[in-house]
Amino acid sequence: RLIISPAVQRLFDGIKSGDRSSLARGITLVESTREDHRGQARELVSACTQMNRPKSMRIGLTGTPGVGKSTFIEAFGMMLINKGHRVSVMAVDPSSARSGGSVLGDKTRMQELSATDDAYVRPSPSRGTLGGVARNTLDSIILTEASGYDVCLVETVGVGQSETMVSEMVDMFVLLMQPGSGDELQGVKRGIMELADLIVVNKADGSLAAAAQQTRTQLMTALHMMVPRRPTWTPKAVRASAVTGHNLDRVWDNIQRYFTVFEESGEWDALRREQQQKWMWREVSNLLISKLGKDTKTKEYAKVLEADVLDGSLPPSVAAEQVVAKFLESVATAPTF
Ligand code: GDP
Repeated sequence: RLIISPAVQRLFDGIKSGDRSSLARGITLVESTREDHRGQARELVSACTQMNRPKSMRIGLTGTPGVGKSTFIEAFGMMLINKGHRVSVMAVDPSSARSGGSVLGDKTRMQELSATDDAYVRPSPSRGTLGGVARNTLDSIILTEASGYDVCLVETVGVGQSETMVSEMVDMFVLLMQPGSGDELQGVKRGIMELADLIVVNKADGSLAAAAQQTRTQLMTALHMMVPRRPTWTPKAVRASAVTGHNLDRVWDNIQRYFTVFEESGEWDALRREQQQKWMWREVSNLLISKLGKDTKTKEYAKVLEADVLDGSLPPSVAAEQVVAKFLESVATAPTF
């Protein structure tokens, strides 16, 4: 049985009842690096997990800056709310994780959605490593689900790594593309395309409508030549306009169809289990690295070895083994881990 402190219990009760300020405080706790906060965050996330709510649809959304992600999320999110859903929006922003700057997640975005009671929009945490931000985002998703949000959108941007992280915490991955971008399906873009379960060619309106049609055709051809990620689903490309709202319902139809197939085939549950396992091991290595970094004896020893690696007198692989050996020895003699 889970034992949680009274303060965390109050926060949990607030989150369960759908109170937004409790949810905000809970997520702040999850994002905190303070040791006492980490303990409370663990209690809170455990309590939320044990609620056993029905699965929410976790949907990743990516695309280059300017493709219309925030405009799309605003319009699409409002449409879902009008259909009776509750929508949360998280951001995993690789630029803020690195530099404290931000491509995503500044507060003026998605104003209508942010002001709606049935939506919860959370900017990307402004500090931490990409891995840390991603881990916190997964915990935050669990909190929003406990609070009754049944559609979780996770927005990201950028180069391979952040997309890979996000694809490991969501059930479906949607890629937004620009009209005219079908000609350059090489390299990185192709890699991201391989993660996509659905491609939305946004801005299919006005003078861009014809180009959007052509891009969709090119994408459909490219998608048919790729090996599908899932045995039961062939990724599709759909034209839409976040500004006029054209085809947003078709995007939603495709997403619903995806989840229906995904549930019926048992893949959805299997994916969730696999993801849980992966995050467990990822967290094990994070924790070990962080403990190692705080161990004075190991740190001092590592500094010496580092110097030898730098001047070329010691191979990095040998140094790594010695550092780990030192850490284990230090842990074995320490009163607490
Ligand atoms: P993000 O950087 O991907 O979040 O892109 P934004 O949502 O900020 O949009 C970038 C620009 O594209 C803005 O000027 C939007 O008004 C415009 N835009 C977004 N969606 C559409 C659309 O469906 N049609 C048209 N014509 N413009 C759009």
